[in-house]
Amino acid sequence: MKVLFAASEALPLVKTGGLADVAGALPGALAALGVDIRVVLPAYRGTLDKLVDRKPLGELLVRGQRFVVWEGTVGHGKVRHWLIDCPALYAREGDPYHNARQQPWSDNAWRYGCFAEAIARLALGEGCGGWKADVVHGNDWQTGLAAAWLKLLRDPAPRCVFTIHNLAYSGLFPRSAFEALGLPPGWWAIEGLEFHGQMSMLKAGLHWADAITTVSPNYAREIRTARFGQGFEGLLEHLSPRLHGILNGIDETFWNPATDPYLAQTYNAASLRAGKAANRAALSAELGLPQDNGKLLVGLIGRLTEQKGFDVVLAALPELMQLPIQLAMLGAGDRILEASFAAAAARYPGRIGLKLGYDERLAHRIEAGADLFLMPSRFEPCGLNQMYSQRYGTVPVVHRVGGLADTVVDASPRTLKNGTATGVVFNDVDVGGVVWGIRRGLELLADPVARVGLQYSGMSRDFSWTTAAKQYLALYR
Ligand code: ADP
Repeated sequence: MKVLFAASEALPLVKTGGLADVAGALPGALAALGVDIRVVLPAYRGTLDKLVDRKPLGELLVRGQRFVVWEGTVGHGKVRHWLIDCPALYAREGDPYHNARQQPWSDNAWRYGCFAEAIARLALGEGCGGWKADVVHGNDWQTGLAAAWLKLLRDPAPRCVFTIHNLAYSGLFPRSAFEALGLPPGWWAIEGLEFHGQMSMLKAGLHWADAITTVSPNYAREIRTARFGQGFEGLLEHLSPRLHGILNGIDETFWNPATDPYLAQTYNAASLRAGKAANRAALSAELGLPQDNGKLLVGLIGRLTEQKGFDVVLAALPELMQLPIQLAMLGAGDRILEASFAAAAARYPGRIGLKLGYDERLAHRIEAGADLFLMPSRFEPCGLNQMYSQRYGTVPVVHRVGGLADTVVDASPRTLKNGTATGVVFNDVDVGGVVWGIRRGLELLADPVARVGLQYSGMSRDFSWTTAAKQYLALYR
């Protein structure tokens, strides 16, 4: 089975969100199951230097431009990566999608339209010495047009699997971008990539793929409803026979409290109590919080966007600060939210340890040092931090939505008794819901038997990528 796995970001080359975690780990897990897999990305600035044993593989002609294809491996992995090199399009200052002022690149339609065509040509053996894919696995809108190109360039084409990591990003562009790309006029149709008068590259992926997946079974159901469907719910309901939910795994090597190099002290289930106490003390010191064993430490990490529900935490603070808790928070994004949290930290001295910015190491230390971990997302395709929390013996408190509902087992009398409970799941993202969730968490952790039960069942769960990889392989077949 030969699979071309295409993504606009992948660890350790480049990351802006959860997609990079998936694209960095799933191909290796598939290779371990015997899949002959190649990962293809644009050659962003600095990425070619990270390619081990780099060599030029071939050339592609895409929309009149010459792309060089480089091959190599990354990190300590064996999976071969192909980087599409066209410096004028991809090797720029800034993140893959934005300039230094955080504005989307004005030619993103062209950049990813060309990337998608390059993916299709590579899958058919062009520019890569004749290696031909049986299956092309595209991810998110940046690769959506690849499915359309494949069907146009070859019949029968390799089969196409398209994964939605977040339906909120639909790759919308004006009709002029469609014209500029010189796409076949027939594609501009309801049964194509037209979406309310605009071009949606995500819709191209949905429409032309043979199978669609998303990153949790619950999100796969939710996106067929108006509340979560972002306008695609009708189409997704129509396509539901080919829509599958496959839960993401986590990188259990990188996120392992027994070996984590970023922690003050490593620990496992046997050394949990002492390990967490040491990490909590170190984390409090790092964030400038007074050591206060009469309070529990609640962790929060994430992009500060509407999706993640941090505005609700702000609204709930007057009530939350009545409870015996401190907050350890790490996040970056919306400037207004950043300023509001900075103001809140000043208003409640000694109660809120805040770091604004992106800090991978601190994220590990918060997972290890916190007692509870709060995720009040309005929607969450899968979510990773609630899985990291369980692995680190930190009890997640989450909204009953998307992948959060699939991965956290709410502590009910029944689940506490049968030993499956791992956290607290609350029903509504509002002040009442969040305060209820934290109160419930406090109540559970105050009971030593419940506390240890929740921590141990969380730590012993299997969130490995192998489980997901087996499901993808079954779908490819
Ligand atoms: P999303 O992809 O919607 O941002 P996920 O939970 O799927 O959400 O993945 C986010 C990943 O990025 C997690 O690994 C999380 O720990 C990490 N992350 C988010 N914000 C930060 C930050 N400010 N500093 C460090 N890591 C972060």
